[in-house]
Amino acid sequence: MVVLEVIITLLVADFISGLFHWLEDAYGREEWPITGRLVTQPNILHHHNPRYFTRHGWCHSSWLLLCLGLLVLLCAWLSGFLTWHVWLFVALGVNANQIHKWAHRSPVENGPIITFLQCIWLLQTPRHHAQHHTDPKNSHYCVLTGFVNPILDTIRLWDALEAVIWSVFHVRRRTDNSVVVAGETLSGRATLERAQLKTVGAESAALSVSPTSNERSVGALRP
Ligand SMILES: [Zn+2]
Ligand SMILES: [Zn+2]
Repeated sequence: MVVLEVIITLLVADFISGLFHWLEDAYGREEWPITGRLVTQPNILHHHNPRYFTRHGWCHSSWLLLCLGLLVLLCAWLSGFLTWHVWLFVALGVNANQIHKWAHRSPVENGPIITFLQCIWLLQTPRHHAQHHTDPKNSHYCVLTGFVNPILDTIRLWDALEAVIWSVFHVRRRTDNSVVVAGETLSGRATLERAQLKTVGAESAALSVSPTSNERSVGALRP
């Protein structure tokens, strides 16, 4: 029974990691005052250069999650629900970025213990996580294990949530400029369009044309 509860807690933590990751990827804006600098900008950088954050230590990658984890513990304690499940959930959640980072490191960098845990699928493998970094980069959001993503992607949960958000709030998911379209990234395409229009003296038009073309390009990629 305890083993089953541990597994369920692990899967719930994995789902929550995917939920936050999806929110960051789909709706985070780098111009937002706090989350833009702390969450969205590193997130965008990670999609352009996935191995960049592997040079960071645990504190750099996990301090924000640690703050959120302490908040969860405090709320659970105040409401009388501070069970070992909550402790385990918080421990996993606080280390979500670290586990994500291990999925971007080689076996030599990770060492035998982490590599073994990845081999028995207790931790997400680099091969599994690589699917999130494969264009159009709109699946495999969960970063702890390899068990939850196949279920969520099969039932198209993220697509369904985005459809609901569009129908209720008329907000589309953010354009991912790291997605490659016809051999070039969207950011590269936008730069090229701006440069081309600039040469014919239409800089102001270029600034308004590029985002629209990006939207079309991403829309064409979506299944
Ligand atoms: Zn992502
Ligand atoms: Zn990643």
